[in-house]
Amino acid sequence: MVWRDSRTDSFQQQVAGRVTTWLVLLCSGLLLAAPLPAQSPSRAQAKSEPALPLYEFTFLDAQQQEQTLQAAQIVEARDGGVVMLSRDGRLLTATPEQLKQKRKLDEPFTPLGKAELTAALQREYGADFEVTQTKHFTICSQAGKRYSQWCGYLFERLYKVLHNHWDSKELPLHEPEVPLIAVIFKDRAAFEAYASQILGEGAAATHGFYSIQSNRMVLYDLTAAPGERPAYNDADILRKLRKSPFNIATVIHECTHQIAFNVGLHTRFADNPLWLTEGMATYFETPDLRSKTGWRTVGRPNPWRLRQFVDYARSRRKADSLQTLISSDARFQDAETVLDTYAEAWAFSYFLIKTHRKQYEEYLSLIAARKPLIWATPEERLQAFQSVFGEDLARLDQEFLKYMRQISR
Ligand SMILES: [Zn+2]
Repeated sequence: MVWRDSRTDSFQQQVAGRVTTWLVLLCSGLLLAAPLPAQSPSRAQAKSEPALPLYEFTFLDAQQQEQTLQAAQIVEARDGGVVMLSRDGRLLTATPEQLKQKRKLDEPFTPLGKAELTAALQREYGADFEVTQTKHFTICSQAGKRYSQWCGYLFERLYKVLHNHWDSKELPLHEPEVPLIAVIFKDRAAFEAYASQILGEGAAATHGFYSIQSNRMVLYDLTAAPGERPAYNDADILRKLRKSPFNIATVIHECTHQIAFNVGLHTRFADNPLWLTEGMATYFETPDLRSKTGWRTVGRPNPWRLRQFVDYARSRRKADSLQTLISSDARFQDAETVLDTYAEAWAFSYFLIKTHRKQYEEYLSLIAARKPLIWATPEERLQAFQSVFGEDLARLDQEFLKYMRQISR
């Protein structure tokens, strides 16, 4: 695994100020009116690389409770701090002060098997959640069989399309190394009660999130409404979802993040420019509620992102917009600019994928090869971008705007 030997000088320094971000490393998909927390994220392990060793760590968690768990060691800083990858896919950190004991076990790291994972989720979420598996996903749901099954179709369909869209000799994808877990609450209220513990006030503005730290998607039954009967078949699920197409786009958006961070398109805990990860998710988030799964195609313009971008380009876009998008995540973190920035991340990614695909793939690989906990400066981000797409940003910007004018006609 690429993370194995990455050593950072001071774990404290690297982690301070980032831990909070990690714990809310999620991004809300279609935030239509509110600010969203930042996201950041996982990466490729060449199939031929040997398995990671397994350790047993004993450490004090954030609540000062002692925990012992088996995990791989993703990062060990020079001061002894560690980032651990648990067998259910969570990334956990321990500072040198928190870490009480570390013991290398005589076996390789393996993800939890189905039965162990089911039991662990059942313990964590309780008896009214049911755990089911599809080929790639583990769905821990409070929403009933039918809705979980429908989500399973959607996730698998997205997985297949995303895999087919990107996997190539130049950009070889791999199978997920840890479980892809979706937690589905029975309704909005149950979701919000849970999400607010992680997102704080941001929970009220979102319909689902993917956490880079836990590697889980957290969603709710979008067909459930107070006083309404549950959907009785797939067609009924779709009929109910048509009332809120934005919400289903959120599910697709978050699931795209989860897949992308687990098959080698991005690396969890590394420096991922948000325009790249959000551009990827928005590229895929176009729902199609005429199809059985609510989602069918890839590569069509995303109508509401396009509308927003056209409006932005016409009235508010500054001359250095591309440069600030590429070099910093700040515009995503400001409530005033977040929607325009999502729209621009979508538009710019769409433009690059459609017209500079080879370079886009090269850039994806370059960023995915970054080591965890090494944060790039704005200059370094810009440099990395220019090393692939060339120095002349002004010219690329003109080409970009011209392309967007054409497709918005
Ligand atoms: Zn996102």
